[in-house]
Amino acid sequence: MIDPRALAANLAAVEQRLATACARAGRARAEVQLVAVTKRHPPGLVRLAYEAGLRHFGENYAQELRDKHAALSDCAGLRWHAIGPLQTKNARYVAKAAHVFHALDRLEVAQELSRRRVGAALECFVEVNVAGEASKAGLAPEAVSAFLEQVLPLPGLAVVGLMGMPPLAVSPEDSRAAFRQLASLGRALGLPSLSMGTTGDFEVAIEEGATHVRVGTALFGERPG
Ligand SMILES: *Cc1c(COP(=O)(O)O)cnc(C)c1O
Repeated sequence: MIDPRALAANLAAVEQRLATACARAGRARAEVQLVAVTKRHPPGLVRLAYEAGLRHFGENYAQELRDKHAALSDCAGLRWHAIGPLQTKNARYVAKAAHVFHALDRLEVAQELSRRRVGAALECFVEVNVAGEASKAGLAPEAVSAFLEQVLPLPGLAVVGLMGMPPLAVSPEDSRAAFRQLASLGRALGLPSLSMGTTGDFEVAIEEGATHVRVGTALFGERPG
């Protein structure tokens, strides 16, 4: 696991990249939420990152989110973002532990989250498969509007924006067209938030309008197997 000094250095480097990208895009740093992706790292690493000042954490697996939510329940102001594909049977963990869900792409999951949610609405991003990759989660761009009509009336959920994962890129510029397409779809649908950009391409995502970037490796190094 990363030590506090290395984490502080990584966090400073990521903040520098964020600041530079925001400045280049003419945007305020406060318009972009850094979500620190802690999947497969132990709860102790999340605590270290919390002590370093991070508050928003992204988890891919529902049971892992459940366990970390319990282990870190004493951390005031900590916000959990569920960012991975979700099966209906695991939706209860996300409904209970998450503040934000980034990977909504199935009505049954939305219905289950809505049924299980207690308290403040779960903020949701609809995941879009911008490049039409067969292996990827997410709705086809042309299917999002009809999906929204079904999901918007559900109590306990608040759809705030769109999320996208472009194809694995060789260069960050390779992701730009997909980010731009996602931003344009979000504008057309009146959804203000955009969850896009990871370690390899978050600067380009910010230039194209990202409001949430999901960054793991640049903060914490390689994930454990
Ligand atoms: C793992 C993951 C990330 C973080 O990726 P890094 O390259 O480590 O920054 C972001 N988003 C999702 C959906 C992920 O699964």
